[in-house]
Amino acid sequence: MADVTLDGLRKEFDRGTIVAVDDIDLEIEDGEFVTVVGPSGCGKTTTLRMVAGLEEPTAGRVLFDGEDVTDIHAKDRPVAMVFQNYALYPHKTVLENMEFGLRMSTDMAKEERHERVREMAEMMGIEELLEDSPDELSGGQKQRVALGRAIVREPEVFLFDEPLSNLDAKLRTEMRAEIQKLQKEFDVTAMYVTHDQEEAMTMGDRLAILDGGKLQQVGEPTEVYENPVNEFVAGFIGSPSMNFLEVTVERDGSAVRLTNRDVGFEFELSQEYVTGHELADTTYTLGVRPENIDISERITGEETMTATVEVVEPIGSDNYVHLDVTPDFLARSDPSIRPEPDDEVGVDFREADIHLFHPETGKDV
Ligand code: ADP
Ligand code: MG
Repeated sequence: MADVTLDGLRKEFDRGTIVAVDDIDLEIEDGEFVTVVGPSGCGKTTTLRMVAGLEEPTAGRVLFDGEDVTDIHAKDRPVAMVFQNYALYPHKTVLENMEFGLRMSTDMAKEERHERVREMAEMMGIEELLEDSPDELSGGQKQRVALGRAIVREPEVFLFDEPLSNLDAKLRTEMRAEIQKLQKEFDVTAMYVTHDQEEAMTMGDRLAILDGGKLQQVGEPTEVYENPVNEFVAGFIGSPSMNFLEVTVERDGSAVRLTNRDVGFEFELSQEYVTGHELADTTYTLGVRPENIDISERITGEETMTATVEVVEPIGSDNYVHLDVTPDFLARSDPSIRPEPDDEVGVDFREADIHLFHPETGKDV
């Protein structure tokens, strides 16, 4: 097994006019499952292809167990990759597809290869399909075959590029669990790429969040959710998204308030908060998650702001209450409060639950 290090990894295309991957440093522990997540075009596939050896870095290195593999050919790296489109050979049977890697990279006898493939197929519940051709299979079966084919080679590093994107929601949930089970069972190091933050939240030991080719934050899912380093991460991780509102720092004697006069927002900060944070006299973006917003049907004049209810969306146990504060303000509230559209409600939250993002750096202060 192997740990994987990305050391200043960089990839430019078209003579440097496109920086697809911008100096990424990342260490993945032996046996760890790291999910690489970010919007389309942020450099996920290119990063993964450099780890696999399918793309040559412009600068930087890839190391397996501390050993530089940057110049080693893809077929000589102990990696297996699973793609969104399965990449099965259409004219080969399932068995032939699954044994192909073993045939190419080892001198294992045919009987032994078939034995290994059969065992793997049994584990994955696809032994009945071994003589079928890929076009007879459903999407879910194809992806099982692709997974089985990857793991039968006993790779040290498992690379996934959005492998579940073509499957329906129910199957996707099932396969997520299956992939994690396999990864733990075989104790392989895994890098799993997805644009779907929900998938990333449920799958990784740690998340690596990419934007514009740059690594934004690496951490455990809850850590990233609770302490996003910047506005991009805060808005990208979590569904529905964090609410954002422009607020200005106003000082009045020793009192420090965050205000937005346009929407009647006024929030007084505690002295502790003011001492603990270096606030400039400028406009910050305030962020607060929907589940941390309290709405009240009684207006007292003490609330941070009032707002008009636009839509109430029941989601089973709770309700999503959409408020008429631009841009898009959403509260998640328990069913004891069930306002109607056009009702005026009070809006509050705890100081501990707010984030303040700096106007220039985007960083949480
Ligand atoms: P993701 O997988 O996150 O969607 P990619 O790694 O595929 O992102 O692409 C990152 C950026 O690099 C994009 O702007 C993409 O257009 C560009 N890119 C990727 N491959 C090539 C290539 N072979 N030639 C030119 N530009 C490329
Ligand atoms: Mg991609």
